Order: sequence, then structure tokens, then C-alpha cells
Amino acid sequence: TEACLNAIEGAGALNAFVHKTPQIAQEQAAAADDRLKAGGAPDLCGIPLGIKDLFCTKGVASQAASRILEGFRPEYESTVTRQLFDAGAVMLGKLNMDEFAMGSSNETSTYGNAVNPWKVDDRQLTPGGSSGGSAAAVAADLCLGATGTDTGGSIRQPAAFTGITGIKPTYGRCSRWGIVAFASSLDQAGPMAKDVRDAAILLRAMCGHDPMDSTSADLAVPDFEAMLTGDIKGKTIGIPREYRMDGMPDEIDALWTRGREMLQDAGAKIVDISLPHTKYALPAYYVIAPAEASSNLARYDGVRYGHRAKLSQGDGIVEMYEKTRAEGFGEEVKRRVMVGTYVLSAGFYDAYYNRARKVRTLIKKDFEDAFDAGIDAILTPATPSAAFGLGEMTEADPVAMYLNDVFTVTVNLAGLPGISVPAGLDKQGLPLGLQLIGRPWDEGDLLNTAYALE
Ligand code: GLN
Repeated sequence: TEACLNAIEGAGALNAFVHKTPQIAQEQAAAADDRLKAGGAPDLCGIPLGIKDLFCTKGVASQAASRILEGFRPEYESTVTRQLFDAGAVMLGKLNMDEFAMGSSNETSTYGNAVNPWKVDDRQLTPGGSSGGSAAAVAADLCLGATGTDTGGSIRQPAAFTGITGIKPTYGRCSRWGIVAFASSLDQAGPMAKDVRDAAILLRAMCGHDPMDSTSADLAVPDFEAMLTGDIKGKTIGIPREYRMDGMPDEIDALWTRGREMLQDAGAKIVDISLPHTKYALPAYYVIAPAEASSNLARYDGVRYGHRAKLSQGDGIVEMYEKTRAEGFGEEVKRRVMVGTYVLSAGFYDAYYNRARKVRTLIKKDFEDAFDAGIDAILTPATPSAAFGLGEMTEADPVAMYLNDVFTVTVNLAGLPGISVPAGLDKQGLPLGLQLIGRPWDEGDLLNTAYALE
């Protein structure tokens, strides 16, 4: 804990930690020492972690990197962080992210962007997003692991951009209680870690049934670490042809081939498969996610939480809402609220929202058909490129940024588990990630296949 706290002090330029909690860390570390001395200490006893700012942590600023939650100190602890602390983990502080987890570069944060510890010459790169602070902190050894959340790729894309491992479990594995909601039917928490083994250990502590979240699954949580044998002989891995996008860089193609060969060498059978509705995933996601966000974000009204705008003489409650939301939300969040409100409006509901829901069902069915045909896991690149330069994508139109999620959003729409593992470097020396997609509730098998790729 002390080494991490010192490392954080020396790494201010990364802007990964946005609220530091050294006092809490020292108290938790001292308690962990006592538990270790007493014997029978739990898995994570004394392990220092960073927590994404989207998780409510009792008495500690939890702002979802938004100005609208300025000054908000939750009265309660999220289920996931409570479980981590019960297992002995230590909180070093809260980590930077895109505002309300909307973004792929950490540049929509009210705290300014986090910076990728990897760089090319002097060019500063994004750590990805929305869990950019988590990825940067783990990659720079500021903590041993971190929590992330993934609505459309926010664990897997930053993991790929920083050379670390991140897993989004099956929808319903981790409780969403106490995690600031973005798109409730897609949001899942998961660990970001140095390698597959660490991810397995963290995931076990994070998941489990919680009556406080009606979508939380009442299923036993296996010992994922014990399932890491590296033996994948006889497994069938699917390569979905629709993920071979037009204009895909050669390096990404080469990475994919390398992954396929590694799995084959480990004894897996590789087969080409088809997931025919893939091309509709991104448009469906960018209807469904904003629709749910516009509804979830209606609660930020200047009354219940955080920031309230200064009012002028004669302003009523409507002006208070308007001014507070105008000041409190950033550009990307406003864009999502407007898109979401539009697609849910009476005249357009069927044309957009309902249609997107139907597409979602078809995408889910594509995966079900593949698994029914005997596929154990699906291998794809995690991202269409390595980390890009800060500012590079924000100057283009927002759709350029959305295209980053092309390989990851399908997994959220289908509610499946997906993992990104580092798989070598590109020509510039930047990390690239491979994604494996697994059967629902079979994170143990998925982690083991990923382990064979390490
Ligand atoms: N980049 C995607 C978005 O902006 C995904 C974000 C996420 O997974 N939280 O919506």
C-alpha cells in the first residue's frame, strides 16, 4: 500500500487518480495486517486497488467524473466495492473515467483526460475509455488491480490500449447496486488487472447474488483461479467472418492470426463462423445506450445530488433544472440525453428504439446459434487500432469515436462475458489486445482460454 501511495504521488501527470484516499488505505492496510497475523486471511487481504469513480464509496467523493455530482458523498457502499473490502482489499482512491462512462478515450471527464503510460516518441496517447484511469493506473503499477465497468467496451478497450487484462462478466454476475447507472440493461462491473490470474482472483470477489439488484443472478460463484489449467485441448474456437471489417489495418489482421495460431498450438480446434447481424450492432447500441442513459440521468435535477446552478431573481424550478443540467453535464452527455430522448419520443419510438431492441434480439440469437453448434469461445481483435493520440478523435465527429466500439458492443447487447488480453505490440511498439467471448456464466472457461493466450 505504501509503495502504491508513493507511486501515485509520483505519477500525477497520468491524471489517473482523481480522489486519493491515503488515510482509508492506511487504515485498511493496518486492518489487513491484523487479519494476516490472526491467520485464515481472505484472498485479497492487503491488496491495494483503485476504484473507478463510477462506484459509490461510502463517505468518499463519487462523481462519475461529472460536474453535476460535485460534492456528492454517498451514504452507502456499492455491493462490488463492499465485497472487495470484505475480502481484505485496500482502496487507494478513485480513478478517472469518461463522464458517466460515456466515451472511449477518457476525454469527456470533468477532471480532464487520464494519460496512457505508453507513448510513441513524445506523443501523448489516450488510455482508452471509459475506464481509462483504471487502465492507466494498473499499467503504470500505481495499484495491483482496479475496478472497471463495461457498457459497450469500457473495460476491454482500455485494457487493450494499455497492455493489461480486463474481463466483462456475464450480465447479472456482478451486482449493479451502488454503481452510477449509465445504460442499465448493458452495464456490468469487472476487474482490470495485470494478467489473467489476477483478473480471476478479483472477479471471484466482485461477483455473486445481491437482492439489491433485481437483475443479479442467483448462481454459485466458482473458484475461477482454480480453473486456470491452461488446458484447452479439444475446445472449439470460432472466428466470426463479419468481424473482418473493410479497411482493417494489416497489424490487427496479423494479431488475429497470431491469436488463432496460439490457440491451435495449444490444442484447440479453430472454425470459421458467421454472426450475420454484427453490422447492425453499433447503430443498435447507439440507440439503446442513449435511450437508457436519458432516462437514468433524469434524476440529476439539482435537488437530490451534487451541483446546483446559481439562480437569478425570478427563476423558478424549471429554470433551476435547466441551468443546473446545462452547467453540470458535458457535451457528450448532453448529446446522449438528446439522442436518447429523441429515440424514445412517441413519434419515433417504434422506428428507433423498438427496432434497435429487435436487432439486439437477433444479435443475441447469432451468438446462441454459434454456441449451440458447439463453439466454446469466439476470438476477435479487441479494438480496431492501438491507442490513438489525445485529441485526435475528439476533433473528428462523434461517430469516429463510436467506431472504436465495433468489436465490443455486441457482447454487451448479448449479455455475454468477454475478456481482452494483451497480445503483442504493433509496429510503433504499442500494445494490442485480443478479445475472447464466452458462453453465458462460463467465465471460468473463458478465463482459462485467455490464460492459454498469455
Ligand atoms: N464507448 C462506449 C460508449 O461511449 C462504451 C462505454 C462503456 O462501456 N461504458 O458508450
